[in-house]
Amino acid sequence: METLNWMGAGSDYREQIVKICSCGIVYSLEDFRDLKYVGNQPFGYDDIESLELRNCTCESTISIALDKDGRYVELNEDGDRI
Ligand SMILES: [Zn+2]
Repeated sequence: METLNWMGAGSDYREQIVKICSCGIVYSLEDFRDLKYVGNQPFGYDDIESLELRNCTCESTISIALDKDGRYVELNEDGDRI
């Protein structure tokens, strides 16, 4: 039973990956929100209201897409909503 619970937690964690920086660091939403806040950039395309910009520890600025309620929106590599 404990093993099953552990596997469940593992798959949840993978679903929460929101960004992989070019330096190779993988961020969950929680990790991303711990980074230094840079700003919000209005987007206004599809259901995406804005981009939240933060600085990775490598000094690159990385962003995630948010809807009008400020919730994370998952995008594919082309920047389109999945
Ligand atoms: Zn980085």
